[in-house]
Amino acid sequence: MGRGAAGRLATMDRILEETYGTPEKILGNQEDPLDEAVYIILSFQTNLARCNLTWSRLRETYPSWERVAQAPTSELSTAIRQGGLQLQKALVIGRLLAEVRRVTGGLSLGLLSTMSDPEAERLLTRLPGLSWKGARCVLLYSLRREVFPVDVNAFRILRRAGVLSQSAVYRRRSLHDAIQATVPPRRRRILHVNLVVHGQRACLPRAPQCPRCPVTSTCRKAGLGVKTRGLSQVVHPMVAYRLADVPSGTAL
Ligand code: SF4
Repeated sequence: MGRGAAGRLATMDRILEETYGTPEKILGNQEDPLDEAVYIILSFQTNLARCNLTWSRLRETYPSWERVAQAPTSELSTAIRQGGLQLQKALVIGRLLAEVRRVTGGLSLGLLSTMSDPEAERLLTRLPGLSWKGARCVLLYSLRREVFPVDVNAFRILRRAGVLSQSAVYRRRSLHDAIQATVPPRRRRILHVNLVVHGQRACLPRAPQCPRCPVTSTCRKAGLGVKTRGLSQVVHPMVAYRLADVPSGTAL
């Protein structure tokens, strides 16, 4: 993490909450853990609207996970084609359901509710299609645990803002753990939801809307070729997260 990064993150957290108000419902995440696991797979490399549409089509076509598990891959891929990468996603969903059945004896992840966060995360990350981010989404949305999933929206925004360095590597577990440790547990759900919304509405992948962005004054705009003079003066010291919470030597 760069100098002042934790303070910048806390400032962004406050401003994003004031701007968006944590509209969790529009993200479409699911209360049942197996539903959420499949929803996460459907959300890969597509936008929110397409993901929600794909989810609706899938549930209309197959009212139960048993029906999905019995469906031929080609048929399943047709049902979820609106989200793109349908063949790959159909294969992964089929493998996920088979593994859930093998591990739990049925098509349910209800046993997660009896597990600690580390136990549940360990089980989830062993399932096909779920990374640390996916596992933490299941923990956050379905089990109401105080974890912080770093999705591609959060990663993109935090790199541009200067919270993460430009050399940060998404597929490194230490990065996910370090950011989670930096965000106070009670703020994790709020900040995660608002970063996802911000990444969909303003800090877009190819065309970030910096002039009308609510956090423009505290963002370094790293990698965008925009001058960032004087940023250190706008970090709010009263809400600074503790940098000491980030494990030393963590590569971000
Ligand atoms: S100022 Fe620009 S780069 Fe920074 S968060 Fe806002 S949209 Fe993204």
